[in-house]
Amino acid sequence: MTGRAVLVLNSGSSSLKFQVFEVDSGALRCALRGQIDGIGADARFKVRDGRGETVHEEDLDDVRVASPPAALTHLTAWLDRALSDRELVGVGHRVVHGGIHYSRPIRVDDTVLLALDRLVPLAPLHQPHNLAPIRALAAARPSLPQVACFDTAFHRTQPIEAELFALPLSFHDEGIRRYGFHGLSYEYVSGRLAEITPGLALSRVIVAHLGSGVSMCALHGGRSVASTMGFTALDGCPMGTRTGSIDAGVLLHLARERGMSFEQIERLLYRESGLLGLSGTSADMRELEASADPRARLAIDYFTYRIAREAGSLASALGGLDAMVFTAGIGENSPAVRAAVCKRLEWLGVSLDVAANRDGADRLDALTSRVAVLRVPTDEELMIARHTCDVLGLH
Ligand code: ADP
Repeated sequence: MTGRAVLVLNSGSSSLKFQVFEVDSGALRCALRGQIDGIGADARFKVRDGRGETVHEEDLDDVRVASPPAALTHLTAWLDRALSDRELVGVGHRVVHGGIHYSRPIRVDDTVLLALDRLVPLAPLHQPHNLAPIRALAAARPSLPQVACFDTAFHRTQPIEAELFALPLSFHDEGIRRYGFHGLSYEYVSGRLAEITPGLALSRVIVAHLGSGVSMCALHGGRSVASTMGFTALDGCPMGTRTGSIDAGVLLHLARERGMSFEQIERLLYRESGLLGLSGTSADMRELEASADPRARLAIDYFTYRIAREAGSLASALGGLDAMVFTAGIGENSPAVRAAVCKRLEWLGVSLDVAANRDGADRLDALTSRVAVLRVPTDEELMIARHTCDVLGLH
């Protein structure tokens, strides 16, 4: 063994994403990244090195990667061979829900695992898939330390009014409250802002995480004070296939008048709505931008309209706005979406430099803009690797 490495896992229902970071090179360096996609049907395994060159590609049908545990076994066996010269000294996991108690990452033991299991009802579509590899690795490699990093943790600095629903207060005490998600992304971006522009990082900032999932976070002094996602990752802005905020009365109507079952409504809200539902063709922003179909245009217009409305709400929570930050797949790569959102926010003092936006520069505001506009690529995996090293004292 010549060096130490940390494995970062992001496990979903049909995909297992991973990155391997070298610990000894001073700053953490990504050595390998990849995923097993299509678990259960036509699974594929692909790995790139730190420069993005493909180092391994494999069709997994014939080795029967039919379940997430089988995918994890396949991945760890492959990593054992690939990392023969490096020792795996820790694993960091993305875990969607940390409930009200976990406001920072934590080393997982049996007690923690039990507590995280109790949070499954709060995120039934994600939490079980996040916990399964922790449990499997704990059984297969009990001496390998594991760290859980939560999407909710960064938001635990929010004031109570940002967490409340106007239900009877007892519901809040029982955990029916706004938790906020994408916290690892916001924490990373907040840290990057402190490096890039320390003064602005301490002011009133909205970060727009526009990916397949979409949310926004209001930061004050680098800490989360409000966010668009709430009790679940369904609230706030429209997303690839999720509705974003919807009048709860619509759901009551669908159940009562149309007799839709709980499962049908859940599928409608999570998988059939958002950009896909409005366009009727695609959840993918690139495809919609390339389409001549008027419904694709309508979907994008609604998307930017709702983002701007939510930004207005967050600016109100902040008492003003000093910087607007775009991140994630769409936020980092779509000049058209950034331009449309900024146009709608002109009343707040946002003014975009057209050329800088077109070229995807880091700084996007026009000289006359009262609000700074930035493009900051996010890196949730690096954030998890850092947390894992911090929690395990791997420096
Ligand atoms: P996730 O990690 O949640 O799966 P991403 O952050 O990768 O999602 O974002 C995926 C979204 O980013 C997709 O809608 C995709 O079309 C969009 N996207 C990626 N590149 C571009 C681009 N160059 N222009 C417009 N949209 C893009």
